[in-house]
This record gives sequence, C-alpha cells and structure tokens, in this order.
Amino acid sequence: MLSINEIRKQFPVLDQHVYGKPLVYFDNAATTQKPLCVIERERDYYLHENCNIHRGVHYLSQKATEAYEHARQTVADFVNAKEAREIIFTRGTTESLNLLATAFEHLDCFVPRNDAKRLKVLVTAMEHHSNLVPWQQMVQRNGGELLVLPMDNKGVLDLEQYEKLLQECPKVVSIAHISNVLGTINPIKQMIAMAHNYDIPVVIDGAQSIAHQPIDVQDLDCDFFVFSGHKMYAPMGIGGLYGKAEWLEKLPPYQFGGEMVDTVSFEKTTFNVLPYKFEAGTPNVGAALGLETAIQFLQNLDRKAVEEHENQLLQFAIKQLSEIEGIRFIGEAEQRSGLVSFIIEGIHPYDLGTLIDKMGVAVRTGHHCAEPVMTHFGIPGTVRASFALYNTLEEVEIFVKAVKKAAMMLR
Ligand code: PLP
Repeated sequence: MLSINEIRKQFPVLDQHVYGKPLVYFDNAATTQKPLCVIERERDYYLHENCNIHRGVHYLSQKATEAYEHARQTVADFVNAKEAREIIFTRGTTESLNLLATAFEHLDCFVPRNDAKRLKVLVTAMEHHSNLVPWQQMVQRNGGELLVLPMDNKGVLDLEQYEKLLQECPKVVSIAHISNVLGTINPIKQMIAMAHNYDIPVVIDGAQSIAHQPIDVQDLDCDFFVFSGHKMYAPMGIGGLYGKAEWLEKLPPYQFGGEMVDTVSFEKTTFNVLPYKFEAGTPNVGAALGLETAIQFLQNLDRKAVEEHENQLLQFAIKQLSEIEGIRFIGEAEQRSGLVSFIIEGIHPYDLGTLIDKMGVAVRTGHHCAEPVMTHFGIPGTVRASFALYNTLEEVEIFVKAVKKAAMMLR
C-alpha cells in the first residue's frame, strides 16, 4: 500500500496556496516536483563534495568522480543496461535526441553520399517536437526524407502501415514510448522487434514513461532509450541516453572539447572510450547525484502500486470529466498512461487553463510541443492534466469542479 500522505511530506512545494486556494499540481508531464531527499542530495554535494571530476588527483575530485560514476551505475541498473558505459549523461531527452541525430548524420555510410533519397528516418505522428525536429533537420540537410507513421483518431498507431514503412528501409526508427499529449502507451516491444526484422535500429523516447513504469532496455531490446531526470522527480538539467555498446562504439562524438578526447595534437585528435566520448566538458555532477537519489526514491516504493494509483487517478478523472457537456477527449487509446487531454466545445483551452489556475489548479494548455498532433485533430490545443504519484483523488475532484465552474463562466 502506498501512503500518499507520507509521500507528500517529501514534497513541501505541494503544501502551499496559490491565489488563496490549495495548490493542485497536475502539470507533471511537463515536470514533476522534487522530493526533499533529492533537493538535499544536491545541496549536500555543493556543501561537501563539489569539485570538477575525472581530472583531479586530490581528495575532493576523487570523491566527486566516484559519486558521479556510482550514479551512472545506478542509472544503468535502473533501466537494466548491461554495462554502465552504455549510459551517457546528457541535459535530458532533447539533448539525447540531438546527440543521436547528429551522431547518425556523421556516421560514415549512414548518409549515402550519391543517393540522398535513400536517407530516411521514420518517426510517428504523435512525437514531441524533440523527437521530430532533430531528425527532420538532419534528413533535410542531406536531401533525405522523414517518414511519418500515422495514427487513428483514438491516438493509436497503425501497425500495418508501420510494416509497409519499414520496407522503405529507413535508417533509424524513433518512437515515443508514451505520448505526452494523448497518453497512448505504444507497443514498443513489438515495434522494436518488427524494425529489427529489417535490421533497423530503434530509438525510444522515454520522457513520459520512465517515471511511470519500470524500464528494462534488454527486455525491450531497444538500441537507444532517452529520458529526462526532471520528469522523474530528479533535478532539471540532467537526463540520459542509453545505447547498446556496439552502437555507441560505432557512432562518432557529438560535441568536442575536454574529457571526450584521448590524445590531441594540432594535426590529429583521438577520442576517449565510452561513455566519456559523448560527455564533452564539465558535466552537471550535482544533478546527476540528484538523479541517483530520485531513482533510489522510486525504487523504495512499490512501483506496481504507483502504477495502479496513477491509473486510478486517470480513470476517476476521465469518468468525472465525461459528465461535462461538450467535452471531447483527445487520445482514447486502450493502453494509456496517467494523463488526460481534452477540449470543451466553444471554449479555448487557454481561457479554461487560465481560469482554473485562479482556482489553484495547475494544468498545461496549448499544443504541448506536438503541433502535428493538433493538426491531426484539427484543434489549436488541449487542456492537459497529468498525474504523479503524490496526487490524490480529492485533488481530481477539486480539478473537475474547477473545470465545470470555469466552463459555466466561459459559456
Ligand atoms: N519527448 C517527450 C515525449 C516529452 O514529453 C518531452 C517533454 O515534455 C520531451 C521529449 C522533451 O523533454 P525535455 O524538455 O526534458 O528535453
């Protein structure tokens, strides 16, 4: 059993009033709040351990280096990577995806020099801009083509079409595990296996899944898995890229500078081994340690119970919201995770979001960095409520009441 009351004590930020009303924080898909243990770990690092890592012979530098590498091992264990060197620390999902798009672009033989038409990358119709624009820009720079796997009006991907698109031989497939707008949980294990039948590597954007379900990259057999710490109770500015060692060995570096080199002369540079080859410059050590603590925080909870709790919040919210006249849910897949997106006929999502904010309820409105999804549904944006483990059924009630009241005022 989860004790939400106990858990909430770890999140003092939730215990406040906005505009004189108790805060209901339902913007967790944008970023989660941070537990005290994470905040204290980062503070402790700056109080007692702060030092640049890897390059120092002195005590503090060695201590900070050990702590940083320990955090890498913790991340590796958390996603069940075979080895710690398969984990690259980045600033988050966006940087990880830019790293991959750039590294693939510079991989010899990847961009066919004399036959640009053969350069194709396959994404889906429900991607966040972070998993769309880096690939789009990369193929466009090289005269290639972005293939887009369509979805239906419930927000479910078309797997028959997927098989056909794989036959067009994309060089990479990059798919969101969970859509940040629709909440759809994509059948990634099956999609990875299908792509592997054609020897195509698969990147999984795990930004919206990592906090909500256990990830096992070996079981999924994905080639890459990327995520952001700040969406899983860790600090901002830290995240990760898992890559199979054989792929990371093959890919060229993304950024150049200190730490990622082995030897340097004016004529020639050789590069460091994994994972350092992809970690140029001074990393965000404090945040990496905070990420490790966030992982330990999650591991100390019954994750099955967390999943069930978040699902209960979702089902309750959907049931309650369904009573509102003129509501239209955006994203109605059977397999979905803890967020609900909707619009109400005749009401702009922005107006609704602004009004319920004054009632203490924080949700996100707009296109959620997924403009093509809005185009698909022919809408300017949605209101999105997204849940985390510290949210309660009472908060869902307050939220639904606020939506009903705002809808009455705006009609
Ligand atoms: N991918 C998905 C599915 C997301 O939901 C987000 C953020 O909302 C991102 C990528 C980008 O994450 P970040 O801004 O942490 O890099």
